Amino acid sequence: MVDAPQQKLQCPNVLDAEEFRRQGHQVIDFIADYYDRMSDYPVHPSVTPGFLRDVLPTDAPRRPGPDAFGSALQDVRDLLLPGMTHWQSPRHFAHFPASSSTVGALGEALIAGINVVPFTWAASPAATELEMVVVDWLGKALHLPESLLFAGGGGGTFLGTTCEAILCALVSARDQKLAEIGGNRIGDLVVYCSDQTHFSFRKAARIAGIQRDHCREVQTYHGDMFALSPTELQAAMQADVDAGLVPLFLCATVGTTQTTAVDPVGELCAVAASHGVWVHVDAAYAGSALVCPEFRHVIDGMESVDSFSMNPHKWLLANNDCCAMWVKKPCALVAALGTEQEYILKDAAAEGHGVVDYKDWTITLTRRFRALKIWLVLRCYGVDGLRDHIRSHLRMAEAFEGMVRADARFEVVTERHFALVCFRLRSPEKLGGEKTANQLNRRLLEEVNAATSGPYMSSANVGGIYMLRCAIGSTLTEERHVNDAWKVVQDRASAILRKMEIIYSVLG
Ligand SMILES: *Cc1c(COP(=O)(O)O)cnc(C)c1O
Repeated sequence: MVDAPQQKLQCPNVLDAEEFRRQGHQVIDFIADYYDRMSDYPVHPSVTPGFLRDVLPTDAPRRPGPDAFGSALQDVRDLLLPGMTHWQSPRHFAHFPASSSTVGALGEALIAGINVVPFTWAASPAATELEMVVVDWLGKALHLPESLLFAGGGGGTFLGTTCEAILCALVSARDQKLAEIGGNRIGDLVVYCSDQTHFSFRKAARIAGIQRDHCREVQTYHGDMFALSPTELQAAMQADVDAGLVPLFLCATVGTTQTTAVDPVGELCAVAASHGVWVHVDAAYAGSALVCPEFRHVIDGMESVDSFSMNPHKWLLANNDCCAMWVKKPCALVAALGTEQEYILKDAAAEGHGVVDYKDWTITLTRRFRALKIWLVLRCYGVDGLRDHIRSHLRMAEAFEGMVRADARFEVVTERHFALVCFRLRSPEKLGGEKTANQLNRRLLEEVNAATSGPYMSSANVGGIYMLRCAIGSTLTEERHVNDAWKVVQDRASAILRKMEIIYSVLG
């Protein structure tokens, strides 16, 4: 059946200020209620795949029902929230935090409401200039070297994720190197990381056209706390040079994803420099801790790095999404990613006034006005407020670590650098000792996470050792949540050990 054309085109007013006010109040009330009731939700849902698909219609509505917005909000509450993993729960200790604050959330609302597209200076002068100012504010707050700031001849920008930052840095390094050695040698380029480097680096290398077998993952060891060894890096680079290949790029990490290992940036830079290699430092999680001067030492030698990135959306009260990236030579970014298309209106007046066209720094043309959110967070909480926020989590992590150490059945497996504690249950000799340790701890994590009102933790498997990860960083987490979490771990461990002892005694 063919629908009859409409008599008269009725366009709804989709940007009505009064309606916006009404809906906006509903949304704010909704979110505030969600925060109030956060403790009522299990951290992660007990749903099975397809649970939502089965109850939703297969097609979008032709026409909105009565009070469509209100009834959709009701569905968010009744259908969606019960099927969510609640990252803002004070009992969420898995992965790394997805940092939230009221100012971060409202910053997102402002960004969406104002909705500008600051790809060139002219496309939104205030947005571009605010980004340039705020990225320097943040860099100074994190104690980054001058060389990475606009104030020191470098500069930075706000992107969505670390993956984007690494890719932008890598293609800049690639093009710079190929300009030197000839574009036909792309197949000779080799990139370096450790076996602890985040997968986003390998992904970026693939996208950038680096051969899959030219990504060297230098092995790390428990004895070095899984940090990348400069000696091993030097050996890997020298072997490649000897084989006629061209070392291009090193991705070092401050705070690896699995265990927050810290690669020795200064020494690695010295090795890289002797081979003309671009050094990027990925501090996606731990970068936030750099607001505290007591962490300045973890970036010793940072003056020599070519680029650096961290995610304020992980631990610095900036709601999703925001990755901050700084580079020493913005011209390398522009050479690799810049466009000179006529249809992108440029403003001649901007030329030579020290402002940038951010479209030439990143993958995308359309960009979000993320600087507004970071500016609000920095203004409303201040650098001291951010330090207090980080330190409160550090204190709780220290307390959790202390409780683990105080129970002889457990051990802390890797040195705690920030607010992540990696620990495991020791497997008693009579239950198989080291041979059964991984299996035992897998079971422990499963049971800890199965407790409905319990904590939610994740795991790492490093150097053959399976361990539990307790990452403290949810804004709503208080000491009592950490104490409760530890009690659940202890109780589950006692139950598992008891059961296993019975089984082993029956088996003789
Ligand atoms: C989380 C994390 C990433 C990935 O960050 P995205 O912003 O999701 O791309 C990369 N590196 C490290 C060390 C991380 O912890």
